[in-house]
Amino acid sequence: MQLPQALINQLEGVKGFEKESFLEVHQSGAQVTSVRLNPQKVSADAFLQHSAFALPERVPWTANGFYLTKRPSFTFDPLFHAGTYYVQEASSMFLEQAFTQTADVSKPLNVLDLCAAPGGKSTHLQSLISSDSLLVSNEVIKNRAGILRQNIIKWGSANVVVTNNDPQHFARLGGFFDVMVVDAPCSGSGLFRRDSEAIREWSEEAVQLCCGRQKRIIADALPALKEEGILIYSTCSYSPQEDEELADWLVGEMGMENLRLSLTEDWNIVETESGETKAFGYRFFPDKVKGEGFYIAAFKRKNKHVEGRLKAARLEKCTAKEQDIVQPWLNTTSVQLLKHHSIYALPHTLVESYSLVRSALSIQYAGVAIGEVMKNKLVPDHALAVSGLLSPAVAQTPLNFNEAIRYLQKADFNIETSVKGWQTVTYGGHNLGWINALQNRINNYYPKELRILKQSDDAAFEK
Ligand code: SAM
Repeated sequence: MQLPQALINQLEGVKGFEKESFLEVHQSGAQVTSVRLNPQKVSADAFLQHSAFALPERVPWTANGFYLTKRPSFTFDPLFHAGTYYVQEASSMFLEQAFTQTADVSKPLNVLDLCAAPGGKSTHLQSLISSDSLLVSNEVIKNRAGILRQNIIKWGSANVVVTNNDPQHFARLGGFFDVMVVDAPCSGSGLFRRDSEAIREWSEEAVQLCCGRQKRIIADALPALKEEGILIYSTCSYSPQEDEELADWLVGEMGMENLRLSLTEDWNIVETESGETKAFGYRFFPDKVKGEGFYIAAFKRKNKHVEGRLKAARLEKCTAKEQDIVQPWLNTTSVQLLKHHSIYALPHTLVESYSLVRSALSIQYAGVAIGEVMKNKLVPDHALAVSGLLSPAVAQTPLNFNEAIRYLQKADFNIETSVKGWQTVTYGGHNLGWINALQNRINNYYPKELRILKQSDDAAFEK
């Protein structure tokens, strides 16, 4: 693995850069695998008993992050499909520190994750905010927004809205957000150890291009952040142009105040100061931390925002009859049932904010999709099965490992069910999706677009 000399030159003199060990860790071929649990679905104790993950070790800067001793085939773990964890690079889990140290998470917050696909930071933010906070998870590239939507559905919470917008569209929501996270598209050198292909795509010109784009993205979306609101900026690039120099631009030209975070010494994270404004930022070097290259810094907006003048979108509510049909499927009455083609549920407390977001942005998904009422019966949506809204009164049929894999492959399978009709199938106590048990056969309602296509006899997860 030959790292670009121009990158090494850029890094000479950067605090924490030690050429020899940096080159060595890239040559070593060592790989780190980490996952972050979904606290809404699984506790750390239950996770530690998961047989395939022998002796997981905690990622020190996050409550629910774990390193795995080997990289299993996640595709063949039913619990992965049940949304009990997200496979995420450990350094980027430091977002938890940046977020919880700068924002008051006990309050209802409007949070924007501007560059969100495939959803690592968004699922993490969702786990950190209160249930009466709203997360808008945005991705500008259409097909990547689709992947983001799937991951948000799997995570199963009702307080997230997925949008597919250009950063400049957010200016319509003047001063709406308390927190804005910009995990910017970057030149990607922080991932070189993992992805040697990325080395070939790297160039000094790409760094310059990225840096211009990063400024455009932030300048376009910043009007949506309220005065005193928090901006968290991160990249997986080592280049100072995309990191400390960007921080200088934010403080020097964009009216932001830099916020210092507290670190624990043995985390081995390097605190840097930018050249002009002395803005603190946090660098992750893979020869110092168990994780990939990463940079993150936090800021507070000091100048006044201009209030947006949007008229809230009119939302269609379900009829009383539809509500009566849907309610027995839910474990709560604190959601509003709304209709847009089909039925979806949003926490009552978020409906007003959502109607503003809806008038400004292109919504891909909101709350939890519940399904459609047909002939006075609910045909439930997959999202409801994997959400936290499903009533425990809905019948469940547990599957063994082989049955679960066949279900997830959307293959035919035969199981004994104690009841007929709509019910969820579970693995290890977690819902995987719907089946409809008829008199003489079982219909598998796992969504076609999610089914496992990979053929493998990998049984790493079988107990
Ligand atoms: N935050 C994500 C996560 O944790 O899973 C990773 C985000 S990735 C580093 C950057 C994202 O920015 C990509 O999904 C990319 O499609 C998106 N992007 C690319 N160009 C953009 C632009 N001009 N404006 C906004 N987002 C952009």
